[in-house]
Amino acid sequence: MERRNQVYEGKAKILYETDDPAYLIQYFKDDASAFNAKKLGSIESKGIFNNRISTRLFQEVEANGIPTHFVKNLSEREMLVKRVDIIMVEIVLRNVIAGNLAKRMGVEEGKRLPHPIIDLHLKNDALDDPLINEDTASAFDLGTREEMAQAREYALKVNDILMKFFAARNVDLIDFKLEFGRCAAEGGKMILADEITPDGCRLWEKGTGRKMDKDRFRRDLGNIEATYAEVDRLVTS
Ligand code: UDP
Repeated sequence: MERRNQVYEGKAKILYETDDPAYLIQYFKDDASAFNAKKLGSIESKGIFNNRISTRLFQEVEANGIPTHFVKNLSEREMLVKRVDIIMVEIVLRNVIAGNLAKRMGVEEGKRLPHPIIDLHLKNDALDDPLINEDTASAFDLGTREEMAQAREYALKVNDILMKFFAARNVDLIDFKLEFGRCAAEGGKMILADEITPDGCRLWEKGTGRKMDKDRFRRDLGNIEATYAEVDRLVTS
C-alpha cells in the first residue's frame, strides 16, 4: 500500500492517503502533548511502542466483537486503517477515580468506582475538551443518540475485554479514552478508530499502583521511555 498525501496531522499521529480511497496509513510520531497541547514534548521511540501496543489491543478487541478501523501493521510506525469520519466526541470510561474526575469532584485519586463511569468530551483542544452529554452531542450534530448509545455499549465491552487483558499482565486499567468514526465504505457504520495506547489510558501496576502511562510525562515522573517499552513488552508477549 503506497503512502500518498497527508490528510491530517495530530499531536501524536499523521494520517496519509493510500492508492485506495477506503484506506489510510496511520503513522505514529514520538511527539507527546498533555493538558490539551499546553505541554509539549517528545518521548523517544514512543511511536514505535504505540504502533505495536495499539495493533495488539485493536486485535484483542476486534477478536472479541468490537469493529475497529485497524486493518494491518505496515511497518515499525505505520498501520493500515479504514478511512472514517471521526466523531468529534471523546468517550472516556473510568473504573477508578483519577485525573479530571478527581479534580472535578474534589476527591483524591485511587478509589475504585462502584460501576464504570462514561464521560463524553467535545474533541476540541482550544476549548479544553469540555465535558458534554448525549443531548449536546445530538443537538450540535456531533453524534446521534443511536451513535452515542452504541459508543457507550462498545466502551463498556472494550472495558471488559481490556480489563481482563491487562489483569492477566498484573496491570489495572484505571480509565481510557476512545474515539469512534463513521466508515463510508461500510455504509456509515460506526467503528472504533484512533489508537489504544498508554497515551490515552491510565494503567497502574497491580499491588504497587505504579503509573505505567502518559501521566509519567504529564506529571514529570521520570522513566517515561522505559515505561512505554515495558507496556509494549507486557502487551505483545
Ligand atoms: N484522555 C485522552 N485525551 C484527552 C483527555 C483524556 O486520551 O484529551 C485520556 C487520559 O489519558 C485518561 C482518560 O482519558 O486515560 C481520562 O482522562 P481525564 O479526563 O482524567 O483527563 P486528564 O486527567 O488526562 O486531563
